[in-house]
Amino acid sequence: MKKLTLQFLLILFAGFSYAQSEVAYLLNHTPNSDKIEVVLEFETLPSSSIKLVIPRSAPGTYELTNYFAFVDQVKGYTVSGKTLNGIMGDGSYFLFEESDESVKKISYEVDVRKMELDLLGSYASSKMRDNYLGILGYSVFGFVEGLESKPIELTINTNKDWPIFSTLRPSIEQKKGTDFYEVDNFSLLVDAQFLLGKAVQIFQVKDAEIPLFVAAYSETPINMEEIGRRGLLSLNGLANYFGYIPMPHYTMCYEFLKPISRLHDYGFSMEHLNSMTASMDTSKAILAYQENANIGTIVHHIGHSWLPLRSYGTGYRPFEWQTAPIIETIWMNEGFMWYISFYNVLNDKTIPFYFFNKNMDEAPDYIQEKSLKDLSILGSTQYGLDFRIGKNLFSRGALLAHDLDVVIQEKTSGEKSFKDAILGLLNWTKENGRAFEYDQIESIMSEATGVDLKDVWDEWQKPRKK
Ligand SMILES: [Zn+2]
Repeated sequence: MKKLTLQFLLILFAGFSYAQSEVAYLLNHTPNSDKIEVVLEFETLPSSSIKLVIPRSAPGTYELTNYFAFVDQVKGYTVSGKTLNGIMGDGSYFLFEESDESVKKISYEVDVRKMELDLLGSYASSKMRDNYLGILGYSVFGFVEGLESKPIELTINTNKDWPIFSTLRPSIEQKKGTDFYEVDNFSLLVDAQFLLGKAVQIFQVKDAEIPLFVAAYSETPINMEEIGRRGLLSLNGLANYFGYIPMPHYTMCYEFLKPISRLHDYGFSMEHLNSMTASMDTSKAILAYQENANIGTIVHHIGHSWLPLRSYGTGYRPFEWQTAPIIETIWMNEGFMWYISFYNVLNDKTIPFYFFNKNMDEAPDYIQEKSLKDLSILGSTQYGLDFRIGKNLFSRGALLAHDLDVVIQEKTSGEKSFKDAILGLLNWTKENGRAFEYDQIESIMSEATGVDLKDVWDEWQKPRKK
């Protein structure tokens, strides 16, 4: 009995100290409002030291996105309940009015309607519709500088009869009105999506190796089972290629929307650790069973859960939330994954090469005259803005992957292939738990394959045109 009591006290103490060091987030959604409220509670901090940072980019978008513009009514609350106004900083952050008292809570509003109207790329925005609120984590959650690595407890409040779905803990059983989530840190919180409302459809795919879900909001009829079938085909193809699945579960989040203007761009998808977000217009609705449906983009986006989400170069992780960070390896993130998707998973050995070479040949001089690394640095903020940059990056990466594959197979009499190079990179990240430097990439791949890849590597680093 005594022993039990001691154990109980220890657990209580451990729980207490954990609660003290975590950050509590609350997302409040009220019916008929265009805005949502976000509240952060934390251990007290002096008002003068607090910076509320709002992300200015998201991993995988390779662009600056001014989420700051949709944040308003920023307030800090002192221990005695005094309210301090938020003051705009000279970057993507808010400071607070001076006070003798410490601050323990911050609240702010995000105008979701304005966000969708102003951001022309539908993939980067949260959405609000009748009976639907689709939240992209990084578009609404900020953090107090210095607390981004603390554990987070998130509470979501919405209409009491609205079901809540999250990619953090996907399930066909959904709580209504309120739900709670625990995540290890800010980057995992913002990597998630939340689909709220009676118009959300959820489907769990049968016979998948990991729990596999489709979560969708659509303004036209869709076939959830068919989307799931295509997802399962893609996941199985990737699992066969890599030999393992690193995700504990996976969700394909789909939106099929009536365009809100002709300037709004639909069709780009986004990758996350354990999910993908696809915002399409209604003309792309997936309806009927199609034996040979084109699943290239699904394979590509699920494939990102291996690369770059679990193996990456400098700049990708840890992510610099206050800017669009410089990423030197976009050609690898995108090009290597296109190569694996088409050439291996879909076993399409021809069409992409015509397409990749065409992208390279038709590029303007300012793109052709850049080295692989310099083009990636440029693409860090402008990948899709001038999509010739994006297309050139993934085309060069895919063609480099092919050249590496040919040399590796030749030198090893088919014993090894490009797959061994990729597994080498994945294993390196698993062992080292950090980003690899640009100069390490070739040697990691050479070591993993036992083939000296320096000549091919060096050739592809050069500009296409001097
Ligand atoms: Zn991609």
